[in-house]
Amino acid sequence: MSHLINVPEIFGTDVFNEATMQQRLAPSIYNAWKQCICSGSPLSLEVANEIAEAMKIWAIEKGATHYTHWFQPMTGITAEKHDSFISPTGDGRVIMEFSGSELVRGEPDASSFPSGGLRATFEARGYTAWDPTAFAFVKDDSLYIPTCFFSYTGEALDKKTPLLRSLDEISREAVRILRLFGDNETQRVRVSVGPEQEYFLIPKSLYAQRLDLRLTGRTLFGAPAPKGQELDDHYFGTIRTRVSNFMKDLDEQLWRLGILSKTKHNEGAPCQHELAPIYSEAGNACDANQLVMEIMKKCAAKHDMVCLLHEKPFAGVAGSGKHNNWSLCTDSGRNLFKPGQTPRQNAQFLVFLAAFIKGVDEYQDFLRSTVAYAGNDHRLGVTEAPPAIISIFLGDELTAVVNSIIDGTNYSDPEKSLMRIGVDVLPSIPKDTTDRNRTSPVAFTGNKFEFRMLGSSQSIAGPNIALNTIMAEELGKFADILENAEDFDVALQKLVCDTLTAHQRIIFNGNGYSDAWKKEAVDRGLSNLSNTAEALPTYISQKNIDLVTKRGIFTEAEFRARYEIHMQSYAKLIAIEGRTCVDMAMHQILPSAMHYTRDLTQSILDKKSAGISCKAEQALVERLSAACDSLYEKTQALAARLTAIPCDTNDAAKYMSEVIVPAMETLRGDADLLEQLTDKAYWPYPTYSDILFY
Ligand code: ADP
Ligand code: MG
Repeated sequence: MSHLINVPEIFGTDVFNEATMQQRLAPSIYNAWKQCICSGSPLSLEVANEIAEAMKIWAIEKGATHYTHWFQPMTGITAEKHDSFISPTGDGRVIMEFSGSELVRGEPDASSFPSGGLRATFEARGYTAWDPTAFAFVKDDSLYIPTCFFSYTGEALDKKTPLLRSLDEISREAVRILRLFGDNETQRVRVSVGPEQEYFLIPKSLYAQRLDLRLTGRTLFGAPAPKGQELDDHYFGTIRTRVSNFMKDLDEQLWRLGILSKTKHNEGAPCQHELAPIYSEAGNACDANQLVMEIMKKCAAKHDMVCLLHEKPFAGVAGSGKHNNWSLCTDSGRNLFKPGQTPRQNAQFLVFLAAFIKGVDEYQDFLRSTVAYAGNDHRLGVTEAPPAIISIFLGDELTAVVNSIIDGTNYSDPEKSLMRIGVDVLPSIPKDTTDRNRTSPVAFTGNKFEFRMLGSSQSIAGPNIALNTIMAEELGKFADILENAEDFDVALQKLVCDTLTAHQRIIFNGNGYSDAWKKEAVDRGLSNLSNTAEALPTYISQKNIDLVTKRGIFTEAEFRARYEIHMQSYAKLIAIEGRTCVDMAMHQILPSAMHYTRDLTQSILDKKSAGISCKAEQALVERLSAACDSLYEKTQALAARLTAIPCDTNDAAKYMSEVIVPAMETLRGDADLLEQLTDKAYWPYPTYSDILFY
């Protein structure tokens, strides 16, 4: 029987949120915490002790026995180490204790987390520090304390710290712009992010039979099923009972944790689904998305299913991405990407728009490299996800505005010669233009930009750090110009017009999947980095290093460490895939096909001696044998190549993409042919039909 959920009642019940703090902390302590959030000042130990005590009592009431500092190391997933609250009293009993210093600071052993070389130069130890802007929560009988992760000498070893730094930076520069438009109230500009999460859900029993899914998260083999998604019968289709039970359970868990899970539906591919939360402040959205991914996996297991977050679990079937909806909002809730009602508001909107367009154009490669990931190589540039070429879709209305500014013509009235920024009113721009272009990597959708290149398994921290930093840089440069202008309106007109003119090449409203666009993009001088091995090296270009160090987001060492880790993990992931291919080919595919061949051969002999025709068997045996020979040879070649991976990180990544990936692909061709030729009774693992149409 399905149980009733009272959503407002359960929402956030497992979170030590502001309301709970207000209830459970003395007013002076609560105010001290609030002060620390607003001004960024550190908490005194006395205040921390009081908060820790209240948190502990609350968590124990929720069934917690342990606490953990929860952090986001550079691997892109989360890490936790649990300590119990117990403390011996000396007479054989224990009491439950949790101090302010345990809340504020932890010391996990940093040596087992990738440090990208930071450890070689600095101390191995690392520590975690409570991020008091993120609420603690109870999950699986532990009190979770969201933290930042540092090396002993202060280098950020995680994804959260640079994200928080980038949020400070963009706020500071955006506030400067707001002041120029007469806003003297806003103290903080926040980045709002709503990540739409795609995923696959398949039966656990089938998953368990596939080594490739278990070890790599995707199928390395598999002939196409006779049916694909050509009927479009899955997108927004009715949800299977088993899946809707999972979704209901998932929503309940997320709501308890204060996560604003809003929309759920079937996606285009069979077994593919999507979850979208209501947007929240970027740091919070990043934490929440990590929890969403983790809880999806655990919840699926509870329902005898497996949640696949890989970007491309099945070849020939649409993969999964994560649309990162990104916008700027003042502390009083004004969206800065919403075209306003008055000429003044319009002008301010155009400044933010121009800064965004300039930033994305100038730092295309930076943005592209933040989504460079082995799994994502199967998506970007294939006609299901945006191309690897960065461009911005503005929609017809806004493009017309931009063009009129560039051309010096009036948007609505050709009689009037000039669109005067700050004087003329913008035409209304529909929130959701019906011709929304799904092929664009960066799309303006009325009051936000949707960055669509993220892979489904990736942390959203990377592209958001990049977007925030780029935007902070451009807004800062604009503020420098406008603050020093003799005539503000003249300077404003010139700035917006010059910027849009210089960067109009990045605006593209057409079909991003077409070959014509690839050619045109070359003519426009846009970069097209088609895979991880090509895209990642641009991450550490001098221009990007200058940007992130100048803005204080990363030190050069911190930045290079991230590069090192991403490059290494690319090579490691491909190596695991390569070895899994060899393993499955040698231990499963070849033996199965050979058993079938042997039995067919026996049947040929039997039939021949009985004088019965056996043309079909003979033809099959011929084809099976040829495919086995070819597969065997390619498997041996792949195995040999896997022993020759260069040591140097850059060489290794290049080798993986140029040698190992193609070797795996050609081997797969033979294996999938064998699947099609072999009696299903002999086949060692579930096929695409079995899994996708269970
Ligand atoms: P889609 O058609 O792409 O599914 P939706 O309008 O449903 O678009 O919104 C998708 C996501 O965008 C949701 O997570 C939503 O909360 C988020 N979103 C809406 N407004 C904003 C905003 N101002 N800033 C950031 N994200 C937003
Ligand atoms: Mg979307």
